Amino acid sequence: MLDAVVVGAGPNGLTAAVELARRGFEVEVFEAADTIGGGARTEELTLPGYRHDPCSAVHPLGIGSPAFRAMPLDRHGLEWLHPELPLAHPFPDGTAAVLARSVGETAMSLGPRDAGTYRRLVAPYVGRWDNLARDFLRTAWDGLPVDPVTWARFGLHALQPVTLLSRRFRDEKARAILAGMAGHAISPTSGIGTAGLALFFALAGHAVGWPVPRGGSQAISDALGSYLREQGGAIHVGVEVKRLDELPPARAYIFDTSPTALARIAGLGNAYRHFRYGASVFKIDYALDGPVPWTAPEARRAGTVHVGPTAREIGAALRAATDGRAPDVPFLITAQPSVVDDSRAPAGKHVFWAYGHVPRGWDGDATEAIERQMERFAPGFRDLVLARAVAGPPQLAVRNANYVDGDIACGAFAGLQTAIRPKLARVPYATAHPSVFLCSSATPPGPGVHGMSGHHAARAVWRRLRGRG
Ligand SMILES: Cc1cc2nc3c(=O)[nH]c(=O)nc-3n(C[C@H](O)[C@H](O)[C@H](O)COP(=O)(O)OP(=O)(O)OC[C@H]3O[C@@H](n4cnc5c(N)ncnc54)[C@H](O)[C@@H]3O)c2cc1C
Repeated sequence: MLDAVVVGAGPNGLTAAVELARRGFEVEVFEAADTIGGGARTEELTLPGYRHDPCSAVHPLGIGSPAFRAMPLDRHGLEWLHPELPLAHPFPDGTAAVLARSVGETAMSLGPRDAGTYRRLVAPYVGRWDNLARDFLRTAWDGLPVDPVTWARFGLHALQPVTLLSRRFRDEKARAILAGMAGHAISPTSGIGTAGLALFFALAGHAVGWPVPRGGSQAISDALGSYLREQGGAIHVGVEVKRLDELPPARAYIFDTSPTALARIAGLGNAYRHFRYGASVFKIDYALDGPVPWTAPEARRAGTVHVGPTAREIGAALRAATDGRAPDVPFLITAQPSVVDDSRAPAGKHVFWAYGHVPRGWDGDATEAIERQMERFAPGFRDLVLARAVAGPPQLAVRNANYVDGDIACGAFAGLQTAIRPKLARVPYATAHPSVFLCSSATPPGPGVHGMSGHHAARAVWRRLRGRG
């Protein structure tokens, strides 16, 4: 009998497997796709020699993750590459706000009337990233925060909607860049907790940067897989698990799946019927003949570029997607890994990654709306397109069963479900079945390539197995 079987080789499944294998448990992983990685993969989606990240591309949460930091992933091939600027947010007049590694440069880019406010907002947290990351990426059952004072202060900011936090600022630049960072939640900017996400991403930019892995996000998964094998774990790919009794006998089963799939596979009935899935995205991966011709020079130096000229427009686009309407003017999150990683495309060519938000299950085509918006900020963009690979909600759901109806967060990251997911429980990773656990981003702390859900789930499994002797 194995000690643990993990279903799904996404960042959380692999992290859970590694953490158990490191403690001497015998672990095997079963993955439906032909390659490991889930939302952290790299493929030649368009043309030979162009290496695209179909899902995650930029990794402030990865480099800042306490779980990943405790593993020798660099020894297993993971190398972080930092663009000159983590984030640029261009405006129609050719200027841009930026999130730079330096607080001063960031503050200056917001304009003289808001620079001081930004400095005062982030000052209490600068230099405290390690504690903040541990406390932000924890779960309520984890005991007291490491740094309760900073945590409580951060909590007062974090619980606010970003629309409220933005009222401290007088000009559009600060409001738009904050709304853009909050937009990663794929929920309206008026939602509780959205200020926390914006502030957390800003602080990550100052403390650890927003890097990309050399070679693509697959490098994170390959490093986790290689470390797991070194610890004695085994990985089987191309195995879609449909029933619990198909798996080898084990003392614990850990699911890196959606709660809906877990309930179906493990026979848990309607245990997760109240779990809500959120809006989706329309993703385009481009092979380009040259770098994106952004009008704002700062955007040419950034790894990530947010395209949404005002906080109001960003809010409207996210609201439309969550209300079930495709936005006419989408808010775009874009990444240009090849500005810093020349292994992604042939010499002189580039890969470009972009998505806008659309309703869950939407089967329309947002290519025209996305490229119209790109042309506003990078005239001539379309002329550079050599090939594109598009994926709306149905295609995303086919790529990965965890993206139910195209929800890339595996459960709406909105309202109470931001913190209480998949349902109210002392140990959210445990289920009604004593040997079955959930470790995907449907559990705290939620979406992103950080492995922390896997880390917490592994601890829950370890405690349970230790208790049983
Ligand atoms: C377009 C897009 C852009 C993103 N951008 C970023 C970003 O830039 N930075 C960031 O940090 N995050 C980003 N994310 C989010 C991030 O990818 C996810 O939050 C993260 O991958 C979740 O990890 P996970 O291990 O919980 O699940 P996943 O990574 O989804 O892995 C789940 C795995 O389980 C497998 N599986 C599911 N069901 C079964 C079954 N029945 N049998 C066997 N295997 C099964 C799946 O095939 C998959 O490999 C993005 C996601 C998408 C889709």
